[in-house]
Amino acid sequence: MKLFVLNSGSSSLKYTLYDIRDGIRKIVWGMVERIGEKEGRVTLFHALEKEVILAHIKDHHNALKLVLRQLDKYGYLKSFSDLAGCAHRVVHGGAKFTAPTLIDREVLEAIEELIPLAPLHNPANLEGIKTLMKLSPTTPQIALFDTAFHQSMPEVAYRYALPEAMSLELDIRRYGFHGLSHHYLRDETAKLLSKAPRQCNLITLHLGNGASVAAIKAGKSIDTSMGFTPLEGLVMGTRPGDLDAGILLYLMQSKGMDAAALDQLLNHESGLKGLCHTNDMREILERKAQGDVKATLAFEIFCYRIQKYIGAYLAILGGVDAVVFAGGIGEHSAEVRERICTQMSHLGLVIDEVKNRAFTKGAQMVHSPQSKIKIAVVQTDEALQMARESVKIL
Ligand code: ADP
Repeated sequence: MKLFVLNSGSSSLKYTLYDIRDGIRKIVWGMVERIGEKEGRVTLFHALEKEVILAHIKDHHNALKLVLRQLDKYGYLKSFSDLAGCAHRVVHGGAKFTAPTLIDREVLEAIEELIPLAPLHNPANLEGIKTLMKLSPTTPQIALFDTAFHQSMPEVAYRYALPEAMSLELDIRRYGFHGLSHHYLRDETAKLLSKAPRQCNLITLHLGNGASVAAIKAGKSIDTSMGFTPLEGLVMGTRPGDLDAGILLYLMQSKGMDAAALDQLLNHESGLKGLCHTNDMREILERKAQGDVKATLAFEIFCYRIQKYIGAYLAILGGVDAVVFAGGIGEHSAEVRERICTQMSHLGLVIDEVKNRAFTKGAQMVHSPQSKIKIAVVQTDEALQMARESVKIL
């Protein structure tokens, strides 16, 4: 029994093939990049090596056929109809989808209706779903939503202080994203704490190119930093996070910027990149070590915003078992973790420098014995989270 987990973007897709007969075991994974461009790339990652094929890849259908050809060549999968199921990541599930859902025509239409809330992501996710439905019409297809884990947020956390009629008519509220990752972090941290997930109060930090933090009370997300869109909250690679909305009015009125110009500014030119010309935290840390003023400020602002959010979530949670670091930056930068925790030692976060620097992979605690709040680093795995949730449905 095999499960195909797919994350379909507009010009790329990533997949993982799992054996789900007896538990969940990763067989192989791969990706397709530059779909629709002149030269695309299909990569299969075996345990120790990878195979890359360069070809023009017209569309998602073409991409998945090439994936299958590669999987078949090595005996991993002969046909998509041999699968026990396909799991699809869907960025926006709105308020409607609070759990993984078996896809039928009605669900497909509901995901389509949510396109205005995620104009870049949901169409690309749908492309993957529709393609696999065509390639393998009898295989169960499951949708897993990035917003679902946060649908437990109470109204006091998800409502914006905008006119009620407008909020209701246009579904303007906070949804939160990175839900699959925060869910995975909750479960892995619960194991480290030897507790049931429902007994855990956590602050989970997913710090990648996109970054968000969640407040988890008794196992449920009660607040998170991303809101109506993934623009709100922490400083990210190319997004500013929290911003005075008056700045947008100012730019529209005094600079004549329109929606497209603001979109470009907020999604692609701000955040770490806007502050110091790169969104690569490795480069920022190197430049900071050499005394680069802009890179140092970008690092400081990035950490400061996280520190403020941890403080706020400590206030609303009323007791926290652990603060959890994950994502490309959270997992790989001991310096970022150390900086944030050291600034918060007065609140009971005391990091063990040796353990912190020794972390390489998996999930580990890195606090010192006198720390009141535990500190964990967890290598997040959204595909595995999707597999875990899909297996329950199948
Ligand atoms: P995405 O959100 O695109 O999946 P990732 O989770 O891969 O992004 O995170 C990307 C970020 O992680 C980049 O800022 C990158 O510089 C940072 N990163 C990766 N490796 C390291 C490292 N060894 N030290 C510091 N930052 C790192």
